[in-house]
Amino acid sequence: MASGFPSTVAALAAGLERGDFSSVELTEHYLARIRALNPELNCYITVCEDGARAQARAADERRAMGEAGVLTGIPYANKDIFCTAGVRTSCGSRMLDNFVPPYTATAVERLHEAGMVMLGKANMDEFAMGSSNETSFYGPARNPWRPDCVPGGSSGGSAAAVAARLAPAATGTDTGGSIRQPASFCGVSGLKPTYGRVSRWGMIAFASSLDQGGPMALTAEDLALLLGAMSGFDSRDSTSVDCVPEDFSRLLGAPLAGLKLGLPKEFLDGRLAPELGATLEEARRVYESLGAECREISLPNSGLAIPAYYIVASAECSSNLSRYDGVRFGHRCDQPADLLDLYTRSRAEGFGAEVKRRILVGTYALSAGYYEAYYGKAQKLRRLIQRDFQAAFGEVDAILGPTSPSVAFGLGQKTDDPVSMYLADIYTTAVNLAGLPGLSIPAGFVDGLPVGMQLIGNYFDEARLLGIAHRFQQATDWHRRVPALADKV
Ligand code: GLN
Repeated sequence: MASGFPSTVAALAAGLERGDFSSVELTEHYLARIRALNPELNCYITVCEDGARAQARAADERRAMGEAGVLTGIPYANKDIFCTAGVRTSCGSRMLDNFVPPYTATAVERLHEAGMVMLGKANMDEFAMGSSNETSFYGPARNPWRPDCVPGGSSGGSAAAVAARLAPAATGTDTGGSIRQPASFCGVSGLKPTYGRVSRWGMIAFASSLDQGGPMALTAEDLALLLGAMSGFDSRDSTSVDCVPEDFSRLLGAPLAGLKLGLPKEFLDGRLAPELGATLEEARRVYESLGAECREISLPNSGLAIPAYYIVASAECSSNLSRYDGVRFGHRCDQPADLLDLYTRSRAEGFGAEVKRRILVGTYALSAGYYEAYYGKAQKLRRLIQRDFQAAFGEVDAILGPTSPSVAFGLGQKTDDPVSMYLADIYTTAVNLAGLPGLSIPAGFVDGLPVGMQLIGNYFDEARLLGIAHRFQQATDWHRRVPALADKV
């Protein structure tokens, strides 16, 4: 970028602190980039020009009074699943196309208390169901590396916005990979925290036992700053974990000598494209040169993650989405004949095909006589998967593997085959079923498209995970590459 503004949150924070530029100037810079590139990339469903300017002015005033924190005045994009008071929150669905929440999600409230500036609401798969952004009512966001390819999903708008430098950071949510997989497809960094680390209050529910919000940015260093601001106990979320606040940057400089990294043999089989296996092999060499010891481990039940995930996620979504009935908020059909017609037509019109498919599968799996055979069984598999990870963490400090079996695929390539789309979540869903933290960072390129690698840690071990990722980013420059399209403006 010819602008002279640095790209990372850490560098922008230093620039604001030195007075190289104001938050108002920085915000105008991003708004201009959004005007130039969003028509092509469709990363944002809603752009908040006036709101962003007002927050930027407030941030500059706060700095002038000597009350700025490290994130004060830094712009960012919010996945359109996080409720924002007074700003439409669509969740990528026609059902919520007219929904303006009266309250703000806790995680967002915390970013705003830190002084961050919301540029807009990022595109996403409808109700976060998808891996390509193509289920969005607003049309798919596009991959800035190749606009005829998907950005991944469901947090595809967030990932594409960060990759195209239409925001230095973004929020995402990850139920089965929706932060890590789009980060991988767009060549950015994304962290799914331990379940319970980031409040789910005000984050529109998909599958409550799996959903977790987290940050997306260019570097692990930036993820640490953002996680620090968005995480923490919230009494309004019954699964929020009350842990001591911590500095997630504290292990960024930690040496890797003696670190034990496990590579699951089940992740390195025929499903992974060979070029991606080679990328991972190269990452392993980087870690070994930094003093880590890499060894093969086994997660014997990981092949069960996809069936378990798609039962649990569909079952929970069928229950969560029953609230959209056309009565209190959201889409309501025209002139309903009676109450039943109101329910059925509002839902038929408001939901897209993928959401309906999940509701049907989930309702079936939860129905009397089938509950034990499907949901009950899936919960048992979930426990086996969790035990595999616990056994692995007895042997190694963290797990290294692929994020996705392929690089970004073409728009439309998988839309007619939902099962092939589901199967591609093979490396990410087990982490959600177990509630563990996992991140994806850029590790190479294949055919001009970014490849991500995944690091999985034990519960609440985000600081170490970020440190391991940061060391890799000090030794490589994959995360510094800029898509040609983003350089144009
Ligand atoms: N691709 C997965 C799904 O479609 C994951 C989605 C997510 O993490 N929100 O369910």
